[in-house]
Amino acid sequence: MQAGRILQEAGTRLGRFEARLLLAYVMGVPVEKLIAHPEMELSASQEQAYRLVVQRRLKGEPYAYIAGEQEFFGRAFKVTPDVLIPRPDTELLVETALHILGQFKSPRVLDLGTGSGCIAVTIARENPSARVTGCDISEPALRVAAGNAAGTNVIFFKSRWFDQVPDGSRFELIVSNPPYVAEASPYLADLSYEPKGALVSGPEGMDDLTEIILKAPKFLSPCGWLAVEHGFDQGDPCRRQFSEAGFSDVRTLKDLGGHDRVTLGELRKV
Ligand code: GLN
Repeated sequence: MQAGRILQEAGTRLGRFEARLLLAYVMGVPVEKLIAHPEMELSASQEQAYRLVVQRRLKGEPYAYIAGEQEFFGRAFKVTPDVLIPRPDTELLVETALHILGQFKSPRVLDLGTGSGCIAVTIARENPSARVTGCDISEPALRVAAGNAAGTNVIFFKSRWFDQVPDGSRFELIVSNPPYVAEASPYLADLSYEPKGALVSGPEGMDDLTEIILKAPKFLSPCGWLAVEHGFDQGDPCRRQFSEAGFSDVRTLKDLGGHDRVTLGELRKV
């Protein structure tokens, strides 16, 4: 069957944009080529594969898990259901990190709960002088991250937050996009395909953020920084905890939607 015809059929159920994306994925061609050549013919097995992925998408499976890939900061990252799908909001955390790192010569960076590795790998690619390490509690996630880090010098290790970070380690910057959704949040229903452990953090969504903020000073160099992503309503509690933990210059930055999203602070050890 011709690509144009199959799109007309599926487009009504899925929306034209998504239908094209999935068809291009199944045919292994760029979407632009599909748009320019609707007369392209699908083989019988491609047609069958397309109907299957449309079914999956209609049930709610995210496109990134179907295609096994998600774009982040201009690069493609492999994803599996073992890792959270990289979000555009998290680009703010990376931009913040890169800005902070500009003041250091060969900074040591730790990414806690690295997941797909999108934060650690992007920092390493954008700032090749940075020495980036990432950790995660999930071994399958670490395998995904290692794949995404091919060709970089990022080092990954297994750890639940700081638990396995050697005593005496010091970093100029610690970054994290930890789970921060509240246990009872109705929003979780939309995220049912993604790993709960990467999303949910206690009754207020603050459990992991609190642990990270309070423990970070021990692992920061004298003028080190902490930057964390959090929910739109967690700016206030995060700033309070940063201050309690001894950080100065504590600020919250807003994402593209105008919501509090990233809090950062500098440690000035005396
Ligand atoms: N930002 C994600 C979302 O709201 C949640 C990610 C997280 O908990 N780190 O979909």
